[in-house]
Amino acid sequence: MHKAFGSLHVLKGVDMTVMPGSVTVILGPSGSGKSTFLRLINQLETLTGGTIEVDGEMIGYKPTGRTDADGRPILQTLDDKAVAAQRSKLGMVFQRFNLFPHMTAIENVMEAPVHVKHMSKSEARELAIAELNRVGLGERLDYYPAELSGGQQQRVAIARALAMKPEIMLFDEPTSALDPELVGEVLNVMLSLAKEGMTMIVVTHEIGFAREVADQVVFMDGGVVVEQGGPDIIDHPSEPRFKDFLQHVL
Ligand code: ATP
Ligand code: MG
Repeated sequence: MHKAFGSLHVLKGVDMTVMPGSVTVILGPSGSGKSTFLRLINQLETLTGGTIEVDGEMIGYKPTGRTDADGRPILQTLDDKAVAAQRSKLGMVFQRFNLFPHMTAIENVMEAPVHVKHMSKSEARELAIAELNRVGLGERLDYYPAELSGGQQQRVAIARALAMKPEIMLFDEPTSALDPELVGEVLNVMLSLAKEGMTMIVVTHEIGFAREVADQVVFMDGGVVVEQGGPDIIDHPSEPRFKDFLQHVL
């Protein structure tokens, strides 16, 4: 896939396959295009070249059945409803928790099931309680974001994403904004999700998490994948740029 912002070519042919039930950890220096990559998958940005498939279905476009002069299929952009349906397969968690400050934990988690999926309030409430229990916050249902620690807020954000029953979870540096002592509780929730078989793509600088949880590690720099492989590449990197990066983060 390719992505340019005007003349700035941010992703220059990134090619990646993520297997269902696997965890992919993306590492790379600031500005290498990691967030852009996740945002493209979630259709928060549009591609300037190439395609992305989720579940065997091309995102953002559909084939028209016709081909151009070179025999390439002609694509048509999907309407908003189809895009929303595709996006609902993805849950995303950002560095900043983005909770609604005027809503309690449970209200934050209920919001999308009620307003997007038109679930009844009582059903959404049951669901939200289950998801908040899953992230260890069953005792904090009625707390407002300001009454929760950063780690707790991030766990509410994870529960909120899970409540939409996504097939894939995208995490963009979910622990970078946290005080060091709160990082572990969020990583533990992510670890247990991985163990339950959730498909996850995680941008993080937490090398220990990558080593322990990743099935696939991808090192990006300058808009290209410089090295990818199993978690063992962290301890045995072959590309000098990856070695150099690891020396700085470890
Ligand atoms: P970080 O580790 O700092 O989060 P990153 O790897 O996530 O970095 P991106 O946020 O994907 O990097 O940004 C990659 C490049 O694309 C940067 O040069 C950034 O300035 C540029 N960029 C990102 N979004 C936009 C945008 N909406 N318009 C213009 N340039 C953008
Ligand atoms: Mg980023």
